[in-house]
Amino acid sequence: MTETTSGNKPVEMSKKDKKAFELANQAFELIGQHQTPPYPSTYALWYAYAAKSNQEVVEKVDETIEKTGTLSVYEIGQIHDTYLSANELEKQRNQEIGQDFEKELAGVMKLVQKSLSNNDQYSSSLNEAQELLPDAVSPEMVGEIVTKLLDQNREMKTMTEELNDGLHKSQSQIHELNTQLAEAREESMRDGLTLLANRRAFDEKLAQEIETASQNGTDLSLVLADIDHFKRVNDSFGHQVGDGILQTFASLISKSIKGRDMAARYGGEEFALILPQTNLNEAFQLVEKIRLDLEASKLVIKSTGQSVGTVTSSFGISMMHPGTDAEKLIRRADQKLYDAKNNGRNRIEMDLEAMAAA
Ligand code: GH3
Ligand code: MG
Ligand code: MG
Repeated sequence: MTETTSGNKPVEMSKKDKKAFELANQAFELIGQHQTPPYPSTYALWYAYAAKSNQEVVEKVDETIEKTGTLSVYEIGQIHDTYLSANELEKQRNQEIGQDFEKELAGVMKLVQKSLSNNDQYSSSLNEAQELLPDAVSPEMVGEIVTKLLDQNREMKTMTEELNDGLHKSQSQIHELNTQLAEAREESMRDGLTLLANRRAFDEKLAQEIETASQNGTDLSLVLADIDHFKRVNDSFGHQVGDGILQTFASLISKSIKGRDMAARYGGEEFALILPQTNLNEAFQLVEKIRLDLEASKLVIKSTGQSVGTVTSSFGISMMHPGTDAEKLIRRADQKLYDAKNNGRNRIEMDLEAMAAA
């Protein structure tokens, strides 16, 4: 255990701690100044605002205060959820893993330095022995020099073993940290509720697939899906049941795709499918199956056995053609989804002009 106090004197705060302390004070001042309730999310938000660690938060808070003169609990929740929760946690976690890495590397460097200095010592003993041996006049003197060398050799052996053990330990620790980093990245690309790719993973993948399709002249279709009258489901059965339906729908989508396809949670109850090497007709076949699957699902509330009734979904499909970028592809699919809603829901609309242009 490291001591945290020495006598009655408080421990000298590090520069970093001082800064954090200052920011915490500012956060509390802001809570008071704006009369916002002191919830953890409020504190986190004002702290981020004071630290200016997230430009978007600063802008959003300033903008809201300018507009309405204050920040409501609802607005705080919105800003916190949009800009802080996932991102900040992830950043913090990566920072922690980064610090562990540094510690581990510093440990390895220490071991290597220790070994080097021992090596130096050993070589200088050897040099010394080489100088002394010709002058050694008695067998005792030779014996003494040899014993000294043997002792040092033994010490060197122990050191080398220690170094080996230390390096092995560090190696496996670094391996574990690497795994943790990979997991953190993987997690940051996935939606927590449905376990599908999240919006960030979707954006990255779409950009990649557009590039590949442009380079190779291959097809690429994009599907946007939205559950019909989902608000009603929530209103009638509660948010938790709504969440369960999102999970069911996500699992239906996941089952229907393969290979390089990606299914993502695009927004609240909106999903997206990236379908490389797939034209509009092929995309339609795939999506029609999902649509029918959801429609035919017997959705039952586990705890009560109560039926939720039929839930349906609508889809818009767009397809890549020369000159399309991600924004256009999404806009066209969104337009088609809007048409599907207007044309009665539980249906699929396709961007046929894209096919004509392709
Ligand atoms: P439409 O057929 O036009 O799509 O009607 P809708 O009611 O589905 O559309 P609207 O966009 O008006 O409402 C979407 C609802 O989805 C509102 C919101 O409360 C709900 N929602 C968004 N995200 C989630 C979530 O993560 N869980 C749950 N349970 N509901 C969510
Ligand atoms: Mg919607
Ligand atoms: Mg909807």
